[in-house]
Amino acid sequence: MNGCLACKACASQCPIKVDVPSFRARFLNLYYTRYQRPVKDYLVANIETMLPYMAKVPKVVNFALKQPLVQKLTEKSVGYIDAPLLSVPTLKSRIKHQPVSEFNLEQLQAIPTAQRQDYVCIVQDPFTSFYDAQVVEDFAKLILKLGKKPVMLPFKPNGKATHIKGFLAQFAKSAQNTADFLAEVAELEMPLVGVDPALVLCYRDEYTEILAQSRGDFDVLTVHEWLTPMLKDIEPSHTVDEADWYLFAHCTEKPKCQMLKKSGAISSSTLADASRRFQLVAVVWPARLVMSQISCKCRKIFMDLAGHLIWTGFRQSAAW
Ligand code: SF4
Repeated sequence: MNGCLACKACASQCPIKVDVPSFRARFLNLYYTRYQRPVKDYLVANIETMLPYMAKVPKVVNFALKQPLVQKLTEKSVGYIDAPLLSVPTLKSRIKHQPVSEFNLEQLQAIPTAQRQDYVCIVQDPFTSFYDAQVVEDFAKLILKLGKKPVMLPFKPNGKATHIKGFLAQFAKSAQNTADFLAEVAELEMPLVGVDPALVLCYRDEYTEILAQSRGDFDVLTVHEWLTPMLKDIEPSHTVDEADWYLFAHCTEKPKCQMLKKSGAISSSTLADASRRFQLVAVVWPARLVMSQISCKCRKIFMDLAGHLIWTGFRQSAAW
């Protein structure tokens, strides 16, 4: 259990459906009612609360994190090494000059129903919004390039980190708050799309498990779930080179995402096709996402969409 990365592969591929992340969370929740938790658990569990404040002064935070003394102290005190640096410029300043709408429920409700499918609500997550803001900016550009209008939803804690660490009461509370918000936004009937697949799938899996009926009725799509059905309606462009592009599925996506399970719903050739069709950042976006996953240095196994092992063995540095 200690080495489990919460990829959820066992939960769907085990013939008797042994869900290690789920029972590990329940175990930790009980275990630490009796024993003292490590300090780093609190740090990880509360990172989503701290990040919006840290992102107000990202250069100061990054400067502090880069100091050898701070690094040594953090390692000795909480066992946390290689803390990632915050994005500079921040997401807020990156999209300030882009035609990306800020979330305003009344204004969005005033949009005629027939026009609402032209809008795409971007569901933020802590890892890309604060550590890889360029990915979110690229996704907003992709939406614009496709003739749609991006709406940046306010950041709401997803809570996956609290679930992994077994803070189940805290997870239930933040999941309920976020689910209530997303259910309200879903009533607008605009697509909700999240950039980080693991956190998107958390809304379907862990949220359903902990909230049951009170989860509400909303769907958050991964980027390629949203993108793929549109490919057939877009004219190819011939101005992009013919090089192959590769999309690496997140380990959680492989077992959990129905579209990927069907295999071939999106593939490198589909992406190459997409690149010709869109002539765009669409192909830059997954590449950036891959780089962001790599930069996390988590010991994750990246598979290509055909299921071939690409490589494994990244150093696990922090998160969970
Ligand atoms: S690493 Fe993945 S497959 Fe292994 S126990 Fe954890 S969730 Fe299951």
